[in-house]
Parts: sequence; structure tokens; C-alpha cells
Amino acid sequence: MKVLKFGGTSVANAQNIKLVLEIIEESRSGERLVVIVSAFSKVTDLLQLASQKAAQGDDRFKEIVAEIETKHLEALKALIPVSEQSALLSHIKRIINHLETLLDGCFLLGELSARTLDTILSFGELLSAYIISEALQQKIKNSGYKDSRELIKTDSNFGKASVNFEVTNALIQEYFQTNSQEVIVMPGFIAASTEGITTTLGRGGSDYTAAILAAALRAHQLEIWTDVNGMFTANPKIVKQAKPIANLSYQEAMELSHFGAKVLYPPTIQPVLRESIPILIKNTFEPTAIGTYISNDIFTQNNPVKGITHIDSITLVTLEGSGMIGVSGSSKRLFEVLSQKNINVIFITQASSEHSICIGILNSDADTAENAINKAFEVEISQNKIQPCIVEKNLCIIALVGENMKNHQGLSGRMFSTLGKNNVNIRAIAQGASERNISAVINERDVKKALNTLHENFFEENTKQLNLFVMGVGNVGEKFIEQIHQQKKFLKEKLKINLRVIALSNSRKMYFDEDGISLKEWQFLLDTGDAADASLFFKTAKELNLRNSIFVDITANESVSQTYEHYLKQNIAVVTCNKIACASEFDNYKKLKKLSRQYNAPFLFETNVGAGLPIIDTVKNLVASGDKVNKIQAVLSGSLNFIFNNFNESSSFHDVVKEAGVQGFTEPDPKIDLSGIDVARKILILIRESGYKMEIDEISNESFLPSACLETSDNEAFFTSLITHADHFNTIFQEAIAKDSRLKYVAQFENGKANVGLRFIPKDHPFYNLEGKDNIVLFFTDRYSDQPLLIKGAGAGAAVTASGIFADVIRIGNI
Ligand code: ADP
Ligand code: ASP
Ligand code: MG
Repeated sequence: MKVLKFGGTSVANAQNIKLVLEIIEESRSGERLVVIVSAFSKVTDLLQLASQKAAQGDDRFKEIVAEIETKHLEALKALIPVSEQSALLSHIKRIINHLETLLDGCFLLGELSARTLDTILSFGELLSAYIISEALQQKIKNSGYKDSRELIKTDSNFGKASVNFEVTNALIQEYFQTNSQEVIVMPGFIAASTEGITTTLGRGGSDYTAAILAAALRAHQLEIWTDVNGMFTANPKIVKQAKPIANLSYQEAMELSHFGAKVLYPPTIQPVLRESIPILIKNTFEPTAIGTYISNDIFTQNNPVKGITHIDSITLVTLEGSGMIGVSGSSKRLFEVLSQKNINVIFITQASSEHSICIGILNSDADTAENAINKAFEVEISQNKIQPCIVEKNLCIIALVGENMKNHQGLSGRMFSTLGKNNVNIRAIAQGASERNISAVINERDVKKALNTLHENFFEENTKQLNLFVMGVGNVGEKFIEQIHQQKKFLKEKLKINLRVIALSNSRKMYFDEDGISLKEWQFLLDTGDAADASLFFKTAKELNLRNSIFVDITANESVSQTYEHYLKQNIAVVTCNKIACASEFDNYKKLKKLSRQYNAPFLFETNVGAGLPIIDTVKNLVASGDKVNKIQAVLSGSLNFIFNNFNESSSFHDVVKEAGVQGFTEPDPKIDLSGIDVARKILILIRESGYKMEIDEISNESFLPSACLETSDNEAFFTSLITHADHFNTIFQEAIAKDSRLKYVAQFENGKANVGLRFIPKDHPFYNLEGKDNIVLFFTDRYSDQPLLIKGAGAGAAVTASGIFADVIRIGNI
């Protein structure tokens, strides 16, 4: 004997039912089968909605009934030959009429009792089992139908009745002894009280019906046919990387289902466990997949964690006060009150001081629980010995489950630090005495992030997913995306980093894809996006609440730099090549650094100085290791270096500046480079990173530009002014020749003072031979006092800047 149960999606329509019939036919190998079916997908929900509407005096319940009728008539017509349809169609119509009469009753009385609701809900399974058994008759003559209410007897706890196993087992055994049909189809979920009134076994209860039958008949296997390939390492609808678990112990399966793995209704395991009947969870839509096998067998596996689950809509109720201490029985009283009100306690923690006790219940029970508890402890509350209970709604429980967890240390630490790193606030923690699970209560809005990071950490060989929100896709941005696209595979395989671009924006458009934008066609996709809106961009990043989110600023825009603090406060890292934030007021720079620490969100800006050269990282390491920076000398402008290296008798200053722009070495507004502001900002950032406090206007900057050039209002006027003042630049050049030196724009910091300006560099100076667009920095520190630490290399250009941004992103991936 074998029991097969088919869930709602498996029997959603005629097409799916045909698959079910094939599976039943293939399962016949001389042994008898019991087939338990759920209502068609969503029908139980529709019945519930119709009942509520009817009881509220809303006659739209009739539309729902019509919808239910059509669903079933259509399925029947598609499954049964026309010649045999008429009697069956009238039977269905009779059932629907009966349903409508009951709902009319609720409508007229304006009332819906738990008992009536159970009767109404039973119609879903009654209809589906009838249709399926008739369709099966067409294929297997020796098959029949049995109403579960005649065999499964319960108490009268409507909505979730308890089974009387003694009576039920006897009835089932007796029936199957006298009946010899090869396959019997039965409705799941429904039963009857000893008085013969229809009851139900709780939502999702068809699994339980099947287990009751399997245990009573000592079947050799219980098969749960559903819409996924078994019990997964996490809910596959929320965690895309989740995988089916091949083997589970009964206890593990029980724990996973109790903590929210909806694929198996929690009470299902008890009856089959008693008889050691294995459960096999299979996918109706992929019958060849191996599924999940649940049994007593011990399967050794490296990973002590088998799955991660969650339960939504949880409320935490905390009762605390000095009156709880040492007074034995406060918790007993608390649980008694809850049990009297039929409230299921899902989670319990008690501080070891006994000063407070905290329980997790469903949101729907919160108000009843609050009133009942406050009433029960009325006296203590009036005497101020206990506070009125604290109720926090809309939380969620997440749990790690595994038989072998008890033999491994450090799992809870790993769980909590993973959540902590992602700024998931943990409200309460509990570990089952069996040590088969560790559970934590978190905010509902963090669920998706929490499940995915934990899954990544415990199941995905530590692959880390980084989710990028990129603003600015000009020269540098374009190169950056190109580099990600090129390196994606390598990063995944070699560094175990999965880089995804979730959002892109330029000044006109923005585009989002929660599953990662296809980088092959990002330009096209971005063009199809919505109008750019920086605050909506931030809001979307916040609401998506993805783990390891990184905001990448590749603009040179001041207003964008002012949004960093919002990102950091949401635990979203910021990577930027935009210097404005770090060169703004010292207090703002400090605030951003502080937020970064406080919210555990990296704030990296390596490309603010020297493009891709590791200058800032080096200063950070020097300072962190206890060294002290005393003096800095640097050529920090790749663009100015390019300009003065190419400016000579045969080229005009104007043309060289133009060329630097074409090659992407200057800022969009070249005056920012030529006025020295850009260099001043860079040395300021290095000074601050070295641990000194300084403001931009403390840096002396004698510009080599005539004031007429500095005062121009746009790029065009600026370039024209360079032509007008050609003589000025030629004179500077001649002076350099006369002094046998080269022109370099130098930044210097010494004795707490800093300046930037154009200098004549003699032949023997390390800056003399600085080529092209290179940068050079000399750090004189306590440790590097005679010979400075020197960093030199290409300090401007789209590709090197993009690779610097890339390196910052990877740094975050490696944290
Ligand atoms: P049925 O109608 O077949 O009884 P259910 O909807 O009750 O199916 O259960 C199957 C669903 O359970 C899956 O579609 C999936 O969305 C959900 N689910 C939640 N957690 C898990 C998990 N850990 N493994 C598999 N499925 C899960
Ligand atoms: N049809 C019922 C429900 O939706 C029982 C089940 O499908 O298991 O809850
Ligand atoms: Mg189910």
C-alpha cells in the first residue's frame, strides 16, 4: 500500500490533473494506492473570501461562487468524454447549489461561525476529489472514491480539529479491509466530528490527511506531490539559489516545516514517524527529479545546517518586571492564559534573571493575547510589580535547522555576525533544547535580505553577492560596466564574488532590475528606463533592501555627493570617484566616516586621488599600523601633467588643454583642473586620511591662470580666454626653459601647512621625469624619514579610474 497526496497546484486545472493521472498510473505496480487530493489551487482562499463577504452582507460572494463553479465545470469538461458528462455536470451543480445556500444563510444572518466556515471550506476538496476520481475512473476501472469525513474523526475544534486516532485508525483499517479497489481517491483537509459535523485539519492540512491514512494502513511510503522539487534549503520563491535537500531526518523535516517550510504541513510527520514510514516529496511537474526523502536513516553530510526557514507575521510579546523574579509560576500562568485563548506560542526566550519572558505569536493573535495577559496579571500590574506587556508586531522568525548542528561550535556566532554585517537587527534569539535549530526574530522588512545572506554564507561555498547601484555612466562609468561584464565569470569562479548591477542612472534616465541588469545590452535598457530622479533612485535601493548593496557614484556632481549619508544609514556601502564629499567641510567628511562605521557600510574613495593608484589605501595602512605622515609632496593632477608635458613651442596651450579633454583626462569642467582646485581637493583628502584636520581654504593656491581666465562663466568662454592669453602661457614656458627645468603642478604638505601651485622642477628632482599623465606621491613618515615612500603611475584616464572603482568594490567583496 502506498499513499500519494497531490497539492493545490498539482490539481489546479485539467491540464495539471492529466499529469496527476499519469503519475497515478505509473505508480501502480501491483500494490494498492490511496490518493489524497487538495482543493484546486486558490479555491480554499476563494471559499474563505466568499464566506467573509457573505457574512459582511456583501453579495459579491455570488461572483466568487460563479468563479469556483466555472473552474470546476471547465476541468470536468476537459477530463471526461462528452457522452458521460451530463450526470457529472449536474452533480457538480448540485454541490455548488448547496454551497450557495450555505453562503446565502451567512448573508441573511450576517454571521459566520467557525463550524459553518469549516463546512464551506470543505467544498474545495469535495469538488476536486469528485472530479479527479471520475477522471481516474476513465483510466482505471477498479478505482473509487471515499469521503474522508466517514473515516477521519476529530473533536469539534473547528478550523484545526484534533484527530481521534483510535477511532480513525479502526475505521480506516476496517474500510480498506472490506474494499478491494486498486486506487481510492479521497479529499484531503476535511474530516468530521464524532457527531458527524464537518471539520477541517487546518490550512495546508491535506498533507496531514495523507499521513493519517499512511500510518493507519502501515503504507510502505507516503508521497507528497507538489509544485517544487522537494524540501529546499530555503524557500525557493525568496532565495533563488536554494537547492532541494535530498535526505532529511523526521526531526529535521519537522523542525523545517514548523519554522515555515510550507511544503509540508507540520503535523504531517507525527503519524508516519510513529510507524517509521518514509515520506518522499516529489514534483508533479518534474517527476524525474529525485525529490526529498524523509526517514529515520542517518545520512552524513558535511554541512551541519540543512535548511533555513522563516515565519512571517509574528508578534513579540514581552512581559517583564521585578514581580517575575523568583515567583515560580509566572510563566506557567502566562502560558495557561495563552492556551485558554487557543493561542499558539511559536517562540520563547526567557532572560536567565527571570526578569522578563518574551514569546513569539502570530500577528492575528496579538490583540487577544495582549488583553488576556494584561487581565491575568492585573493585580501585579496595578502594584507596579509587572509592566503591562510590550507588544511588537510585524516581525519574522528565521531559523537555521540541522540534526548535526549540536556537534558544531560557532554556528550561532556565524549566523548572528552574518546578519549583523548586513545591518539586520535581531530582536530576540532562541535555541531549541534539541539544538536542532537556532532561531532569531527580526524585522519583516529584512527577511529577504536575511534569508539570502544566510543562505549564501551556509550553502553557497561562501559566494558573496554584491548588488551595485551605479550613478553616472559617462566615460568612466562605461568603462566600469565593461570591466564588470568582462570579469564577472572570473570573479564568480576565482574570488567567489557574484557582481550584479541592479540599477543604472545617467542624468536623463534610470533603470532597475532586481535580478541584475543584463550588461550585454545595458545601454539599450537604460534608454528604456524612467526619467532620472536621484531621490527615487535612493528610495528604490532602500526598498529593495538587498544584501551587500553598494552605491557607486561615478559623477562629478555635488548634489549626488550629498546623498551618501542616506545610503550609509541604510547600510548601503558607498564607492565614489567624486571628490566633492571628501573635500567638503571637515565635519561632513568626518560624519560620513562615522556613519560608515556606525552602519557597517564601507565608504571607499580610492579614485579620489591618483585614479587607480593605491594611494589612499597605502595611507590608511600606514596610519593603521602606527606610522605618522609628516610631509607629502606630490604631483596629483594627471591632466595638468599631461598638459605641461605636451605644451611646448610647437603647440598652443589652448590646443593641449583641448586634447587633454578629448582624451578624458580633465574633469568635465576643465577649469576645475587648471585652477588647481582639483589638486587642492586631492591633497586635502590625503592630509585628512593621514589624520590631520584641515579645510580647503587653508590650502594656499596661487593659480597660474590669469584672473580673466578664472572668471569665465562657461567652458566655451574659458577656452577662448586661453587663446586670448596665449602670451601669458608662452612666457611661463620660456621661463622654464631658461631655468633648465620642467613645469609641474605640485601639491605639498609640511608642518601642518599645505599649498598647491605650478613649480619649476630642476633636473635632479624625482618629479622631473614624470611622463604623460602620470602621478607621483612622496610620503615622508616616521618610518620613511630619509627615503620617502613613493607611489607613481598613471593617475588619470577612464580605464584606470574605472579599475580603481572596481578595486574598491572588490575590497568590499573581500570584507
Ligand atoms: P501544495 O499545494 O502542493 O500543498 P504548498 O503551496 O502547500 O503546495 O507548498 C509548496 C510551496 O512551499 C512551494 O511552492 C514553495 O513556495 C513553498 N516553500 C516554502 N518553503 C519551502 C522550502 N523550504 N522548500 C520547498 N518549498 C518551500
Ligand atoms: N485546501 C486546503 C488549503 O488550501 C488544504 C491543502 O491544500 O492542503 O489549506
Ligand atoms: Mg501544502
